[in-house]
Amino acid sequence: LEEELRQSHKLEAVGRLAGGIAHDFNNLLTVVLGNLELIRCGAATGADAEELLAGTERAAKQAAELTKQMLGFARRQPLRTASVDLNQLVRDSLVLLRRTIDARIVVRFEPAPHLRPVAADPVQLQQVLMNLCLNARDAMPEGGTLTVGTADADPTDGPEGKRFVRLSVSDTGVGMTDEVRAKIFDPFFTTKGVGQGTGLGLAVVYGVATAHGGSVEVSSTPGAGSRFDVYLPRGAVSDDDRTPTRAEGATDFP
Ligand code: ADP
Repeated sequence: LEEELRQSHKLEAVGRLAGGIAHDFNNLLTVVLGNLELIRCGAATGADAEELLAGTERAAKQAAELTKQMLGFARRQPLRTASVDLNQLVRDSLVLLRRTIDARIVVRFEPAPHLRPVAADPVQLQQVLMNLCLNARDAMPEGGTLTVGTADADPTDGPEGKRFVRLSVSDTGVGMTDEVRAKIFDPFFTTKGVGQGTGLGLAVVYGVATAHGGSVEVSSTPGAGSRFDVYLPRGAVSDDDRTPTRAEGATDFP
C-alpha cells in the first residue's frame, strides 16, 4: 500500500508538472501574441508600441527561462560524485551568495570542526545550498539572520547504523503554515508572485538529496522562521580521512 501511495503521489506530481508548465507557458504566449497583434493592426503606435514590444520581449524571455529550468529539472543529471569537503563548499558558495543578499540579513556559517567528507556531486550540492539560501533570503524581506550549519548527524528516522552528514539552512523569516509546508517539494508550487518564483527550487533540492541516497527534513513556525536539514551520506572513507578543517568557530559574511 505504501508503495502504491508513493507511485500515485509521483504520478500526481508529474501531472501537476505538465499542467503547470502548459499553463504558465500558455499565459506567456498569450501576452506575446496579443501584443504582436495590437502592433500589427496599428492599435498601438509610437511610445505605446515601444512599451508593448518591451513587454513582449519580457514575456518571451520568461518563457525561455521557464523551459530552461524545466529542462534542467527533467534531465536527471548523472551524479559526478567526488569526496567533498562540505565546509569548504559552503564557505566558497557563501562568499558569492552574500552579494545577492540584502545587507540587513546577517549571513552566518557554523561549521562542524572535524566534518567527514561527503560522497556527492559538488555542482549539485552548490545548487541545493543556493536554492535554500535564496528561499531564506526571500523569507526575510525586513532582514534577519540566515544561518548555514554542518554536522555529523543522521536523519531522524534514517536507516540504523548508516552515518550521514547534515547541511542545515535556517532563517528568522516569515515561516510557513502546515498547509504550505505540505506542498513545498511539489514541482511548480510557489507562493511567490508571477515572475518571482518558479516553484522548482525545493523540488530540485529534494531530487538531489534523494539521488544521493539522502533526505530532507523541514521545520517551520509561522512568524518565526524555517529550518531545512539536508542529510547526505558520508563518503566511504576511514576516520583518517576526516577533513582536516581548521578548528574555527562561527563566521559571519559581511
Ligand atoms: P520558489 O522559491 O520559486 O517559490 P521553491 O520550490 O524553492 O520555489 O519554494 C516553494 C515555496 O516554499 C515558496 O514559494 C515558499 O512559499 C515556500 N518556502 C520555501 N522556503 C521557505 C522559507 N525558507 N521560508 C518560508 N517559506 C519558504
